[in-house]
Amino acid sequence: MKPETIAIHAGHQNDPATGAVIAPIHLSTTFERQPDGEYPHGFVYSRNANPNRMILEESISAIEGGVAAAAFASGSVAMMTVLQALRPGNHVIAPEDLYYGSRKVLTEIFVPWGLEVSFVDLTNVTAVANAIQPNSKLIIVESPSNPMIKVADIQTLADLAHQNNAKLLCDNTIPSPIGQRPFALGADMIVHATTKYLSGHSDVIGGILVTRAEDDLFERIRMIQTVGGAVPSPFDCWLAHRGLQTLPYRMRAQTNNAMLIAQFLDSHPAIETVLYPGLLSHPQHELAARQMILSGALMSVLVKGDEAAAMQVAANVNLFTRATSFGGTHSLIEHRASIEHPETTTPRNLLRLSIGLENVEDLIADLQQALLF
Ligand SMILES: *Cc1c(COP(=O)(O)O)cnc(C)c1O
Repeated sequence: MKPETIAIHAGHQNDPATGAVIAPIHLSTTFERQPDGEYPHGFVYSRNANPNRMILEESISAIEGGVAAAAFASGSVAMMTVLQALRPGNHVIAPEDLYYGSRKVLTEIFVPWGLEVSFVDLTNVTAVANAIQPNSKLIIVESPSNPMIKVADIQTLADLAHQNNAKLLCDNTIPSPIGQRPFALGADMIVHATTKYLSGHSDVIGGILVTRAEDDLFERIRMIQTVGGAVPSPFDCWLAHRGLQTLPYRMRAQTNNAMLIAQFLDSHPAIETVLYPGLLSHPQHELAARQMILSGALMSVLVKGDEAAAMQVAANVNLFTRATSFGGTHSLIEHRASIEHPETTTPRNLLRLSIGLENVEDLIADLQQALLF
């Protein structure tokens, strides 16, 4: 089946009790046991498994081409659970420009807990190879990265991980399953903040871990998920699954908008640089063209001038909303350096744009007037 069909049908069937075409939201925390002690529907207690969570896990696993998935209450706790499934003394290689929250999870929680971590420029394969230690168990890749939109070679990193008995975990939040196929490139696990494109409407926080094999590491991840219970509510699962159904169409439309906006900004005299994988001027454009199916809808721009100039552009927009996050229907604009940690290396004149589903001519007109100052 093709992605558009999987997005709508995977994991879902018409409700056998009522014939409802759309799954009901199962709020019950507990499920009835038969006189013989059996649970004929397979559900016992909602921390362990819930019908709405099962639909979400099966459908996202299917659209990524995995074998199983574990859904969580946030993208951050999905990442934390993979790290918890490792053992103290294990070594992890992570990108130096890893999503800020995931970096904090590593340095503030898991280093004190006993993990060893090296932050490396993943676009430099020699640097990654040099960072590998006998206790290296996991390489984390996030491509394109955020907010510098660097593209790392997933296939090469997967080969490197496997030659050294380690696993490759790909954060596929930014391109989404429609824009990039990490399992086809050799990744072992995929993590998503379903908060972003998968839910797609900026109204639910969630995360998911998808695996290509039900191995010991995934069994530990499942164990931590069900024992600890950092799981999404049935309503959050229902919302995320509702969003998933339109993902292929949203991603294509948002990417088309983004490409036109990137070209407009690239030729604008007030803009120094546009960082977008779809542009020929992107430093890894060739790799991006090979590795990604869609260039995505997230970009960063360096405004000519300093932080004040960038802030002025963000202040001038009307249709774009000044807010963090991405992946929703509304276009967002954000000055990154001022919300990151004090020692951030993000350029002070950088704005990150999340392109939404509005008409692209309206979005370009808004940027056009915002840049005239
Ligand atoms: C948003 C995001 C996360 C964290 O997800 P939350 O749901 O906010 O916890 C992780 N990785 C990437 C790439 C993200 O954009």
